Amino acid sequence: MYDCIVVGAGPAGTTTATRLSKAGAQVLLVEKENLPRYKACAGAVSGRAANLLTINPATVAEDVIRKVKVCWGNRQADPIEYVSESPIAHLVMRSRFDLLLAEAAIDAGATLHDGEKVEALDLDHSDMTVRTNRSTYRAKTIVGADGALGITARQSALYVPKSSGIAMEIEAQVPDSRLAEWRSTVLVTYGRPRHGYAWLFPKSGHLSLGIGSFVPRRSDLITNFNAFTSSLGINWRKEDLRAHPIPLGGGKRQFRRPGLILAGDAAGLGDPLSGEGIAHAVHSGILAADSILNALETGDFSMDDYQNAIEAEINANLKIARQLASVFYAMPKLFYRLFRTNREILTWYFELVQGKRQYQEVWELLGTILSPQILTSIEGQAKENCP
Ligand SMILES: Cc1cc2nc3c(=O)[nH]c(=O)nc-3n(C[C@H](O)[C@H](O)[C@H](O)COP(=O)(O)OP(=O)(O)OC[C@H]3O[C@@H](n4cnc5c(N)ncnc54)[C@H](O)[C@@H]3O)c2cc1C
Repeated sequence: MYDCIVVGAGPAGTTTATRLSKAGAQVLLVEKENLPRYKACAGAVSGRAANLLTINPATVAEDVIRKVKVCWGNRQADPIEYVSESPIAHLVMRSRFDLLLAEAAIDAGATLHDGEKVEALDLDHSDMTVRTNRSTYRAKTIVGADGALGITARQSALYVPKSSGIAMEIEAQVPDSRLAEWRSTVLVTYGRPRHGYAWLFPKSGHLSLGIGSFVPRRSDLITNFNAFTSSLGINWRKEDLRAHPIPLGGGKRQFRRPGLILAGDAAGLGDPLSGEGIAHAVHSGILAADSILNALETGDFSMDDYQNAIEAEINANLKIARQLASVFYAMPKLFYRLFRTNREILTWYFELVQGKRQYQEVWELLGTILSPQILTSIEGQAKENCP
């Protein structure tokens, strides 16, 4: 009988396992892939995420970002540039980053079973069981940290359909001269798709190129991705493209049931404005561990404290991010122009990523820049475009 079985060894699951194990709980961490495993992800560990981590992302960083070039519609001439003396993000390959997090969990005392897939849960709380392709285990609590496509949310009836965006990515091999051109710099281009952006993130030996759309409706992402990569002179093969849903936070939902908690992407905590998810995965992992420790100590397995903490510390911010996203993606060109003419809004946006500002501050700044009439008209359009 484990105190907790954590399903999934991404940032959410490994953070939960580490924190629980450090406090002396008996933890089994089950991961269906053999580690290290590839995860489709641009790998930007934001300042906000770094502030929450117990490991140092710099130890596995492929690059440290200090400059962002922002373009419109794949026109790379005359970009808007944001430069920061402090790191904007550490860029990692998720295989190495997640392995480091898993090793921290093992060092803390967690048992890791990788290459083992959870296939079914029996959630009768007096005796919860987790069945995998190898065995069956009993646990007092379960954490579903099995990502956007995991089974825990579905089997616990906590899954919320139609709340995901989508992102896709390739890892492009390019000559060293092209890599050098992008050192410490990322490219973000808005306009295609309308409700998202395309990106170029440099890694130590290649470039990660991707595109994401942050509305539940799908736009023509592959066509837009082709246009983006062509504008950079980069060819790719269809079989190299990796796509994955991005579950968008900020909505009303349950994150727990007695004895069971959802964390990270499984709980739908992706940022509806940027698609960022690592920071919220780590943060929810911390809150999950604290709630479980409380349950083990008090015998109250309602996990209500987790629901409240996620609402207050994460989802309230994601609600504002959702508001910002619906306004931003209703009129992306207006915001692109605003970025060019108003350095303050551009700076505040990236300071948000760096963990130096809160969503509420950015929302309030927007209110002071845009007249109430413009804001109301954009919000009206936003409701039509991003229901
Ligand atoms: C293309 C793309 C680019 C992105 N770029 C960024 C970025 O730059 N920065 C950022 O912050 N976020 C980014 N994100 C979002 C980020 O990847 C996720 O929010 C983050 O990985 C969530 O972490 P997690 O631990 O909740 O889930 P995951 O990282 O998805 O981990 C879940 C784990 O559970 C395992 N699992 C699933 N099912 C089972 C099962 N049945 N049994 C056992 N194990 C199971 C999986 O194998 C996986 O290892 C991006 C997403 C995409 C798709």
